[in-house]
Amino acid sequence: MTRSYHQIESFLKRTGGTAEEEGNVNYHDFKILVVGAGGLGCEVLKALAMVGFQNLTIIDMDTIEYSNLNRQFLFRKKDVGRPKSEVAAEFVMKKVPGCKITHVVGRLEDQPLSFYKSFKLVISGLDNLGARRWTSSTLCSLVETKNGEINPNTIIPLIDGGTEGFQGHVMVIVPKVGPCLDCIISLFPPQKTFPMCTIASQPRLPEHCIAWASQIAWENPTINTEFPHGTKVDADNPAHVQWVYEHALQRAEEKNISGVTYRLTLGVIKNIMPAIASTNSLIAAQTANEAFKYATGCANNLDNYLVYYGKDGINTSVESLEKKKGCLVCDMQTMSKSIPATFTLQQLVDEISDDPELQVSNPSIGLESGQIIFVSRGPLKEQTEKNLGLELPQLGVKEGEELIINSPAISSPIFLKIHYEY
Ligand SMILES: [Zn+2]
Repeated sequence: MTRSYHQIESFLKRTGGTAEEEGNVNYHDFKILVVGAGGLGCEVLKALAMVGFQNLTIIDMDTIEYSNLNRQFLFRKKDVGRPKSEVAAEFVMKKVPGCKITHVVGRLEDQPLSFYKSFKLVISGLDNLGARRWTSSTLCSLVETKNGEINPNTIIPLIDGGTEGFQGHVMVIVPKVGPCLDCIISLFPPQKTFPMCTIASQPRLPEHCIAWASQIAWENPTINTEFPHGTKVDADNPAHVQWVYEHALQRAEEKNISGVTYRLTLGVIKNIMPAIASTNSLIAAQTANEAFKYATGCANNLDNYLVYYGKDGINTSVESLEKKKGCLVCDMQTMSKSIPATFTLQQLVDEISDDPELQVSNPSIGLESGQIIFVSRGPLKEQTEKNLGLELPQLGVKEGEELIINSPAISSPIFLKIHYEY
């Protein structure tokens, strides 16, 4: 049995009254990619299917954990251990006849650009800024220009959803035409909150290791023999922070993750927040509405950033954010940075991670000559780590040198011009 959408279709065909235009009723085959099959991604997938999109793809690298079941409602106990994207696709296809969902199990970065090019629209329902930023920068890189004119056929919009506790946002990104995520990156404080399942079993970021140390190891009396059981981690107690830092570092080494610093530890401890299922539903519903408006043309899209605050009463507002001149992703220019000439490479690495305009962690850094001075992961890590203690001039970084910085966070390199303060 194929689901009937005649009510939606009569809505799209309406004329008169306040309706300005007829919408396109042939939107069912509009090809959409949903990025992420966690709490938010599952809601997005369901909402899209319910509104009549029948040509969907969902990508996620994770498998289902027992701890997901409380809020990732497409998963059952029997699904634990199976890929999230596969189970989510199966479930929604069963509930919504006629809807075809392709699932991909894997990392975003491992898909070829031709994969992303094959969609008309991408929706991100991800739990971390890094992957959302990567998605946004990849879609920006797909836009082709000729004689300074954008080729509109190469534009694939991104509807970016995000939630944190009672708070959420939806942003409609039209790459190179409007602001991208990097244009507004300074609005997002470096993210310090993570789902418990990631912390417990699938750490990928230094922050995950710190959250593990401060939440799981700290509560475990066989690991934490130093402080009495029941003591809360106190961010203002240096002995507590030091304990968490040391255990996070140890876990990071075991998992081959770099970037755990004392400062980052302090940031993570100060800000721990749970995911709330109903906030996910609200934000997912709005992303699906934006997709529906875009695919049918029945109404104007959000321009361009909606914020939802549910913590003190309810508040939503829409802001029309602007493209940032010189954005490192969509308006490719070199960024300049003034630093003391006595700065070590480690201090530079910390600086670019903490800088609200950059927020680049796990970088690899090269000189104009092409010489690589630091790589935070992989086989070159060990070889270049000894450079961290050296001052930049000792490494051959000259006044006005343009460093080439690559990071898993964005799909194209950042050029950072170094000026020394004397
Ligand atoms: Zn931008």
